[in-house]
Amino acid sequence: MTVDPGLPDHITPRRVVIIGGGFAGLFAARTLRHAPVQVTVVDRTPHHLFQPLLYQCATGILSEGQIAVPLRHVLRRHENVDCVLAEVTDVDVAARRVIGLRPTGRPIEIPYDDLIVCAGVQQSYFGHDEYALVAPGMKTLEDALTIRRRVFGAFEMASTATDPAERRRWLTFALVGAGPTGVELAGQIHEVATFTLRNEYRQFDPDETTVLLLDGGKEPLAPFGPKLAARAAKALAGMGVELHMGSIVTAVDARGIEVKGPDGTARRFDAGTVLWTAGVTAPALAGQLARRTGAEQDRAGRLKVRPDLTLPGHPEISVVGDLMSLGHLPGVAEVAMQGGLYAGRRITRQVERGAGEPRPFRYHDLGSAAYISRGRAVLSVGPVHASGLVGWLGWLFIHLAFLTSFRNRLGALLTWATAFSRETRRERAVTMARVKPGEDLYHPVPESLAARERTRS
Ligand SMILES: Cc1cc2nc3c(=O)[nH]c(=O)nc-3n(C[C@H](O)[C@H](O)[C@H](O)COP(=O)(O)OP(=O)(O)OC[C@H]3O[C@@H](n4cnc5c(N)ncnc54)[C@H](O)[C@@H]3O)c2cc1C
Repeated sequence: MTVDPGLPDHITPRRVVIIGGGFAGLFAARTLRHAPVQVTVVDRTPHHLFQPLLYQCATGILSEGQIAVPLRHVLRRHENVDCVLAEVTDVDVAARRVIGLRPTGRPIEIPYDDLIVCAGVQQSYFGHDEYALVAPGMKTLEDALTIRRRVFGAFEMASTATDPAERRRWLTFALVGAGPTGVELAGQIHEVATFTLRNEYRQFDPDETTVLLLDGGKEPLAPFGPKLAARAAKALAGMGVELHMGSIVTAVDARGIEVKGPDGTARRFDAGTVLWTAGVTAPALAGQLARRTGAEQDRAGRLKVRPDLTLPGHPEISVVGDLMSLGHLPGVAEVAMQGGLYAGRRITRQVERGAGEPRPFRYHDLGSAAYISRGRAVLSVGPVHASGLVGWLGWLFIHLAFLTSFRNRLGALLTWATAFSRETRRERAVTMARVKPGEDLYHPVPESLAARERTRS
């Protein structure tokens, strides 16, 4: 591990361990660059992922490399930072050690003086984890690539179907959750069907595609407020996306989805592709930390932090980003980045000037945006609310500004310029494991589910 060369040999630099190299972890590590500390970033993946653009990777606009950058590369000039590839499973709070597993399964323990936990959250299926077998969520790079395979694969399956009902099923996409991710995915899948693929199939017209957006709430994009939500609903309906608000999912299987509608009646939608973007929950690590420290968790399992983002009674442990619960702060990238910056600065100040009560964390809301389709987005920045083309330009600016590395920014801008002006989506390559002849390789049914369906029939 790198030792700060500026320190005399007999002084051991303070060890800061950061769990997670997402927005919060990356900003914390960057902030500690010039502090006399030794930083270790532990992540179970080797990359920093730009989650807000996962849906563009899933629908063939951006490549994996444009949204996922190797952590080591991003931090290569930070000489006091090292990266460790491992899944953290526990924290020995008394001995101040992070406990985890290397990809080989070999255990690893990393000592710390300060710990910053930025492990994010994961998709919640509201107690029905079995839905994940057929309805992938959208949190990781693997999720995006799975969705890419299923979306483009569904059109391939439609082209092989001889029965019109079966073809209709393959051309029906059901998305659960009308938050920003659900809305963005719905808009993109619709655009793939009506724009990208319109001249590619001879057996059917991809324009026959149905995109269903289902949600238990009253309106899509609720966090953007009623005015923008209404505009988003109008824009989606205008494009042809079917909105089913007030619909509670009661079952998901390999051939479709069942819901209870706003009037209480049950309804089934046959769909070749079901995607899940509703709800998040804290990972198991949060429960472990709560048990070890006595910290409280909120309803989603996130850890309740003090105003200085530390756990009560543990000033050496900060929890930052999506995993922290503080007032009504939303789980967005900007909160994570500002939280990471704050935690890094707090440690720097302590090391350089000695302990002192830090000022509480203050979040500065710089606004948010959600993309609906080419030239249409909603944008909310303080009192300014915009939609349509102005919203879209705002969306473009925000995403370009925050993409990691200049090369990615330039690459994304050029890609968007071609993808938005022409019917080109270059990133449509998918990989498939060859199983048995005749099997649907785009939508493999997990063996456990196949066995359950066999027993049922
Ligand atoms: C599809 C999607 C779209 C989004 N769109 C927007 C948007 O438009 N605007 C916006 O502001 N926000 C958006 N967000 C939210 C935003 O991405 C998150 O708020 C932000 O990523 C949170 O940062 P984080 O560092 O807390 O967690 P993450 O970015 O999730 O990073 C967590 C890191 O921890 C690692 N990790 C987790 N558990 C372990 C473990 N046990 N051991 C080791 N490593 C671990 C993970 O591999 C990951 O690298 C979106 C999120 C998603 C999923």
